[in-house]
Amino acid sequence: MTADQLRSYLELYRDLGISTIYKARPPRPDLTETSVLTEPELISEIRANAPRPHTVLPSIAPEDDTLEKIRLDIGDCKRCRLCEARHSIVFGSGNEQSRLVFVGEGPGADEDAQGIPFVGRAGQLLTQMIDNTASKEGIPIRRDDVYICNVVKCRPPENRAPQPDEMEICGQYLYRQLMAIQPKAICALGATAMRALLNSKLGITKMRGEWQKWNGIPLMISYHPSYLLRQYNQEAKRQAWEDLKKVLHFVYD
Ligand code: SF4
Repeated sequence: MTADQLRSYLELYRDLGISTIYKARPPRPDLTETSVLTEPELISEIRANAPRPHTVLPSIAPEDDTLEKIRLDIGDCKRCRLCEARHSIVFGSGNEQSRLVFVGEGPGADEDAQGIPFVGRAGQLLTQMIDNTASKEGIPIRRDDVYICNVVKCRPPENRAPQPDEMEICGQYLYRQLMAIQPKAICALGATAMRALLNSKLGITKMRGEWQKWNGIPLMISYHPSYLLRQYNQEAKRQAWEDLKKVLHFVYD
């Protein structure tokens, strides 16, 4: 871990009210497998290594957390390098009490300019998919009735995928958002969101369409709408519509 990443973690923990961090005791270099201790040495060694009472670190999601508190904690966040080129922090949008949350990868140029997730071409496709599928299936919801956010809140330069350390640092906010909303189901859009929530090494084509669990909440993996915009992905489009139908019926039937 680099000094910058360590600093980001410490700042985040401080914002969460965690003031004490415990460090593992390094092994004593003079104690090897062949060391023989006298009885007094043995007693002092046992005493030195006995477990001590310690403060239990608070959960990473504070009690009574709300989206408003999380947004306040983010502030003008500079906890990872993605702050350098962003115009806006794209926190999330939609119904804060929604029973369904969509999680994407990160903001693109349009989202960065407007501060709202999924408003570019991929976002318009997602809106269309939610509105049309719900209407065809007789489910009375529209995009504004669900909550939409991303794994990272700032736009990665040139729309590159977020790097693992950026996902780890910013993922703390996503964790808190999901814990605060406690939706009936989550839908992860694309491989990055899948990795952030499931830590799975399997490819998205293997994982999509099946229910998984994130902290006890049913999680559906599907394709990112930007992948569906490519002409040759007609079959993926059909599958994504199937995934969405499954999610909407599960949540709203
Ligand atoms: S991506 Fe997240 S952690 Fe990084 S600067 Fe933006 S809000 Fe902060």
